[in-house]
Amino acid sequence: MHFPQLAAFTGGDGLIRVIGHRGARGIMPENTMEGFAFTLNCGVRLLEFDVVMTRDGVPVITHNHSLTGSIVRDQAGNWLQGEEPKVSDLDWADLENLDVGGLDGRSDYGRRFPDQAFLYGARIPRLSDLCELIAQPDYQDVHLMLEIKSDPDKLKNTTARADVVAAVVAEVRALGLTQRTLMHSFDWTLLAECKKQAPEMPTSYLTQLPDNAADIGEDHAAPASPDLTKAGVSVPDLVTREAGALWCPYYLDVTAAQVARARELGLRVAVWTVNEVADIDRMIGLGVDAIVTDYPGRVQRRLLAQGFVWSEQAVLAR
Ligand code: MG
Repeated sequence: MHFPQLAAFTGGDGLIRVIGHRGARGIMPENTMEGFAFTLNCGVRLLEFDVVMTRDGVPVITHNHSLTGSIVRDQAGNWLQGEEPKVSDLDWADLENLDVGGLDGRSDYGRRFPDQAFLYGARIPRLSDLCELIAQPDYQDVHLMLEIKSDPDKLKNTTARADVVAAVVAEVRALGLTQRTLMHSFDWTLLAECKKQAPEMPTSYLTQLPDNAADIGEDHAAPASPDLTKAGVSVPDLVTREAGALWCPYYLDVTAAQVARARELGLRVAVWTVNEVADIDRMIGLGVDAIVTDYPGRVQRRLLAQGFVWSEQAVLAR
């Protein structure tokens, strides 16, 4: 099957794509419309973001399954206290007035992003909010790396899982964005469900080796991830067996040999989440197709310094 959106995620001679992680988390509040607008204005037209489902079946853009005290304020501006409720136990009406425009600087998570802007009144977007923006004429070149977060409490609930995929697919189809969207997840079984329900969209396989997991203050994907340690089979080969279009390894895991194997298999390689200059440079050296980053401007500058660009538009401007 031909997937027109894959071209936007494919690198080339002097070309490595930049994908804004949750927008531009290092600079702007993550997974907010304000952050997405900022990223798009940076000339970065590939957006990564996370989707979780509410109790009443609304796909919303947020990373953790529970509302996190270091990210979420109530209408009065107070950080969420006490037990963190699960998004899947709340309705959209419970979420729509919460403020996710900043990080609590006293928290471990907040300390990770000291340069992130602090906004008042930034809301949790619905998937439909972002899709409606991207469907506008000015954003026809924008592509979505849509990560579905797999609820660890519902891994065996096939109906609930199929419902999440159906709701997400319905939103993307409703706005005519199936040719500009990649379905992205750590949960490879969920990606198989995406393929079943929406064969017109390619799938992207996230991986992270347990030894390198160190994302303080965030949900970890290990419960939903497949066992990648099967002897004798490379991860790119495993992705190919799933008929994947793109492999998205954690940047500390990936080797030159794996990138070469992915190339042989015709897989695109996008690495996450690459933020430090030395790491960005190493990924450029590996010749990946795309770099997922919290600091899109920093990656642009490293690419330019090494004679690369990140889009066809930048090729023309060079
Ligand atoms: Mg994500």
